[in-house]
Amino acid sequence: MSRFFSNKYKSLIPYVPGEQPKDMKYIKLNTNESPFSPSKKAIEKASEAAKVLQLYSDPDSTILVEKLSEVYGVNKDQVTVNNGSDETLNFAFMAYCDENHPAAFPNISYGFYPVFAKLNNIPYEEIPLNADFTINVEDYIGINKTIFIANPNAPTGIALPLSDIERIVSSNKDNIVVIDEAYVDFGAESAVSLVDKYDNLLVVQTFSKSRSLAGGRLGFAIANKNIIQDLNTIKYSTNPYNINRMTMAAGVGALEDEEYTRANCQKIIENRAYTVSELKKLGFVLTDSKTNFLWAKTDKMSGKDLYLTLKKNGILVRYFDKELLKDYVRITIGSKEQMETFIKTLKNILEA
Ligand code: PMP
Repeated sequence: MSRFFSNKYKSLIPYVPGEQPKDMKYIKLNTNESPFSPSKKAIEKASEAAKVLQLYSDPDSTILVEKLSEVYGVNKDQVTVNNGSDETLNFAFMAYCDENHPAAFPNISYGFYPVFAKLNNIPYEEIPLNADFTINVEDYIGINKTIFIANPNAPTGIALPLSDIERIVSSNKDNIVVIDEAYVDFGAESAVSLVDKYDNLLVVQTFSKSRSLAGGRLGFAIANKNIIQDLNTIKYSTNPYNINRMTMAAGVGALEDEEYTRANCQKIIENRAYTVSELKKLGFVLTDSKTNFLWAKTDKMSGKDLYLTLKKNGILVRYFDKELLKDYVRITIGSKEQMETFIKTLKNILEA
């Protein structure tokens, strides 16, 4: 830290992204990326866009916003796009939280929420999950705070039904409820259908998972038009060109190829079922994941030992060195071949 770093950030502990080691070729099951390449249409459109990179991008992302509004059946003024859903979430913390509107989220959830809260000097409450990692919906009824819920949750993978989300949103009418649907396409119910009914609901999604564009950095929000206006005020006050031309074009291409996205999600769901059944045969305990990852533990090894041994064998999974999480590892669902190698390697490790 330099001696010039502002006091307001001195105690900030940044979010730690999943490792991207370069020492050898790993099977990467640690950052919930898609094993499939982006749609050909996305790649073609991005390459075309690269030819005019001398020009700034369209700050309104007009074509992309239009396309999203068509695909999700909402008005254009109900959509905004950001540099990854991380940016959308940060904007939501900036826009809707302060000392009078503290944030609230589960104590086991996306690790970036407390970081965004601290970055923006926002008080926050971490609400404990039940012992089985489910969210106790009653804890969120009429709590008068700005609520952030990942649905499905991460790293547990467990989804709440839409009826529970609606109860939370409708009981907190004077506060924003942010539903982070990064993994919704792998089997959960989206709250987008509720945005016309509730002016306090903000749904956040991403192109990083189901649409194979993690490296493009493209997230979006769907909500009442006034919420979208707020988020755009923050965007235009920080970085109006937050979506570069190539990413914008790739996003449009991906949305023109929804069949490809759906087919890939279906493959992930099948590979997930295969991996769950194999892990159960090996005695693993798992939550009911509706995402592209599994949350699993074995009584044969600690989460850390399992992570380290898999890494030595060329497979990366995610381990969180925290009291409530340390027995578990998070395993991203990859291609069938990757998951077969993972299971084979695991068997060798456990039998050794
Ligand atoms: N929300 C959750 C729950 C996530 O796990 C992630 C991915 N790490 C994100 C949001 C952010 O994804 P991105 O910025 O790539 O859209």
